[in-house]
Amino acid sequence: MTEAIRDHGAAPAPAGDGAFLSVRDLRVRFSTEDGTVRAVDGLSFDLARGRTLGIVGESGSGKSVTSLSVLGLHDPATSRTEGEILLDGQEVTGADERTLERLRGSKVAMIFQDSLSALSPYYTIGRQIAEPYRKHTGASRRAAWDRAVEMLGKVGIPRPGLRARDYPHQFSGGMRQRAMIAMALVCDPELLIADEPTTALDVTVQAQILDLLAELQQEFGSAIILITHDLGVVANTADDLLVMYAGRAVERGTVREVLRDPRHPYTWGLLGSMPRLESDVDEPLRPIPGTPPSLLDPPSGCPFHPRCPHTALVPRGRCASERPAMPEGRGAACHLSPADKRGIRFPGGVR
Ligand code: SF4
Repeated sequence: MTEAIRDHGAAPAPAGDGAFLSVRDLRVRFSTEDGTVRAVDGLSFDLARGRTLGIVGESGSGKSVTSLSVLGLHDPATSRTEGEILLDGQEVTGADERTLERLRGSKVAMIFQDSLSALSPYYTIGRQIAEPYRKHTGASRRAAWDRAVEMLGKVGIPRPGLRARDYPHQFSGGMRQRAMIAMALVCDPELLIADEPTTALDVTVQAQILDLLAELQQEFGSAIILITHDLGVVANTADDLLVMYAGRAVERGTVREVLRDPRHPYTWGLLGSMPRLESDVDEPLRPIPGTPPSLLDPPSGCPFHPRCPHTALVPRGRCASERPAMPEGRGAACHLSPADKRGIRFPGGVR
């Protein structure tokens, strides 16, 4: 993991009041043939304008489901969303399609992981950026095209006037991702959700895209949610960090707080499973033992207990029987005492 940790020096967004996005006790369930999947189970967080929140966890931890809820994209026929999502004071949960359409694009936009399937192969890049702009602003075709070319220039596409006439297959992977960012930013959204925006790219292009997001955030002042399984990505890019496991938040704080003083055994596991610059090249990576739980039938108590090596330190079998509370603000959902945590050296530990 890179050692550079972004630090704006400011505290995390205050709970509720003043946050541009406020999520409270979000629960998302899906009906399947095998039963009900509890994809998100009681999640709360806040995000202020101009800040970047990294949401980190393994596949199936609920991070992408959470972001789709903020966009109001779950099909009510197969899913049930409960709790409160306030976006600039507007309730998203239960809002009608017209309200959601207005919010998408103007207030919130998303960058998807797979630019090839998110962009249509049948239309030029320029047209795909210009169309949402026309739809949301009522601009003329000419003005929307000019805006698309301007956005391609902003995201670093050379000769944007010419390249706007290309089709997605004529762009490299990194250029397509830049085009997706241009498309997401064309209507000046106040919240940008980037779901694994660099996973499909090689490391150099990854760094360029993350730098670009940070620059554009400075320019546009947007809030960003950065969803990733890679703590190295958030270390450089995010201000605040939310670690998710089995549909729940298990640790939160500023990036600096969580990476310098991680307090949850799952976060220790994520850190221990990452390559570190200073470690011996022969030192094996240590994946977290076991697999994430089925969300059809999540474990009782702490959802991490079947994989946690520290349950013996917690008396009366509480790990398996009692769900640990998630504190507001900086903290972790774990029954271990602070003294016990201080005594544990975890693999890849930074203490
Ligand atoms: Fe491990 Fe128990 Fe803490 Fe869960 S509550 S992370 S099982 S020690």
